[in-house]
Amino acid sequence: MSVRVVARIRPLLDGEHEKDIIVRADTAEAGKPNTIVKIPSPKNGAEDFSFAFNSVYDQSTSQETLYNSEVQPLLKSLFQGLDVTLFAYGVTGTGKTHTMRGGLKLADRGVIPRLLSGVFRRGKKIAKDSDGDTSVTVALSYYEIYNDKVFDLLEPPEQRTPMGLPLRAEAGGRTVVCGLTERRCDDLRDFEKLYIEANNNRVTAATKLNAHSSRSHAILRVKVTQSGPDCVRESTASAIDLAGSEDNRRTDNGKERLVESAAINKSLFVLSQCIDAISRGDRRVPYRESKMTRILSLGQNHGITVMILNLSPLRSYHLDTLSSLNVSSRAKRIEVREIENEVVYKQFPKSSVAAAHGGGGLGGGK
Ligand code: ADP
Ligand code: MG
Repeated sequence: MSVRVVARIRPLLDGEHEKDIIVRADTAEAGKPNTIVKIPSPKNGAEDFSFAFNSVYDQSTSQETLYNSEVQPLLKSLFQGLDVTLFAYGVTGTGKTHTMRGGLKLADRGVIPRLLSGVFRRGKKIAKDSDGDTSVTVALSYYEIYNDKVFDLLEPPEQRTPMGLPLRAEAGGRTVVCGLTERRCDDLRDFEKLYIEANNNRVTAATKLNAHSSRSHAILRVKVTQSGPDCVRESTASAIDLAGSEDNRRTDNGKERLVESAAINKSLFVLSQCIDAISRGDRRVPYRESKMTRILSLGQNHGITVMILNLSPLRSYHLDTLSSLNVSSRAKRIEVREIENEVVYKQFPKSSVAAAHGGGGLGGGK
């Protein structure tokens, strides 16, 4: 299965004008859903470039529609033991944080709180349907990668070590962060409290460094553990709000931002190189050249990956929009192996019982 790549064009904000719109959603065939983004050639405004995606969401798309179409259907796979990765890619100001986190009002809530709500609901149902045989627990980790260093967002910023946390490669190709806090979360209210606190930590830390949180990658990891009488099944959903992909040569950054921009640009540059290498079928993919790409390990991770490309419709973003369209339209060709995580047996596996609980997903291999 490939990485699913979808584009979302944000609406005009206050003070922006209809006449400056240059990015449009289009359909490949009359009456079919939108799958194409059209943007004029920067050299010849009369000529349009078209980029095809798995789906394209226009200005009018609500948070609910995006979640219901792209994320809700993945819950079933998550509970079957597949890891799910969702990431938002795009220029600063195009709606990545709005898409992932969203606003406080119910209708404005983004993918992350909706995902958690779906996980809790499904977990409760599984526990209930099993008559208490299966318990489902949810644990959260939340961290950011800033200047190629990993910082735990569930810890207060004062406790940060300047070096950040190290990574470790696990069997099966997964990369994990060592020493990351994991907090158990039993309901949506628990989650919201933690999440708000952690996002405040993110802003405080950024302010201290005279930086901005759009310059770091924020990664939320939701670990779902289903514990039956005989086996434990674990899977994770990761939601990633990447740093802005703008080309800093084109934005006027002060000197103090130079080091920072270079590190952010490097990880996003490595990401685009990984995407290129994988889509060409190269044997060497430069994952290891940045922490973000090690963690994301596109095409190596077992599971389902959805990339959401956030776009501004405005002319003032023209070149950056084209560059992010280029990167993400190549990502579609990445193959992801859809392999369920292995079930871990408690002491004495009784195969007959285990099979009844496993629902066909046992053994991890396909
Ligand atoms: P990014 O995280 O990519 O830098 P933001 O999510 O902060 O961008 O979005 C920039 C601004 O646009 C914010 O004020 C946000 O509320 C608004 N915005 C983005 N997408 C939408 C949308 N789909 N509907 C309404 N407002 C949006
Ligand atoms: Mg943001």
